[in-house]
Amino acid sequence: MTERLFWRDAYVKDFSAKILSIRDSALVLDRTCFFPEGGGQVSDSGSLNGVRVIDVRAEGEEILHLVQDPSSFKEGQEVQGVIDWERRYRIMRLHSAAHVVFFCFREKFDPECTASSGKVDDEKERSDYLFAKELTPEVLKTVEDYANEIIVKGLGVKIWFEDAEAREVNPWTGAAAPVEAGLRRKWKIEGFPEMECGGTHVNDTSEIGRIVLKRGKNPGRGRKRIEVYLA
Ligand SMILES: [Zn+2]
Repeated sequence: MTERLFWRDAYVKDFSAKILSIRDSALVLDRTCFFPEGGGQVSDSGSLNGVRVIDVRAEGEEILHLVQDPSSFKEGQEVQGVIDWERRYRIMRLHSAAHVVFFCFREKFDPECTASSGKVDDEKERSDYLFAKELTPEVLKTVEDYANEIIVKGLGVKIWFEDAEAREVNPWTGAAAPVEAGLRRKWKIEGFPEMECGGTHVNDTSEIGRIVLKRGKNPGRGRKRIEVYLA
């Protein structure tokens, strides 16, 4: 099992860990602050003992770190890990921004609106909204202004775990996830509904800074794509 240090504290940039096993070019560590690709968030980049980490994947309870050259590593070895913090921090800011935009959009235009779970990297976040009306520049501008108003308030981002028998309806996707007991990770900022999220987030909305919204390419199936950028 790999302990997910990024869940306890998203601001940890470096760490030491033990190699539990090596599979092909992937190292399984006992703990890590490398975020594995999932929930629409890209994996972290960085290095282990100075060797580049190319990709990070979760497999059950374990996190696999695909390295450029595994030849210098052996099982049981202690390694020093460091993530590319500047990149990760941009991802955190964009991921938190996307949640704010989603709730602002619902509040202003359609309280029942859902979106396909977004995709976020260090450049932009994009989500496909199931929005029946036209996504005009005015609609985007209204949401952008409102989101920036919320962001600048410096609202605290709360993240916690809940033991749940069944997952309730996710406000983001509108889907009732399959019944499966276990810990659920919850996300909330003051004044907005809570939702599930396994990603990494800033502690305070003011860290996001100003954002800009753009209309993305039409993904089809009646959905409208909104892209979030850091100004
Ligand atoms: Zn999220």
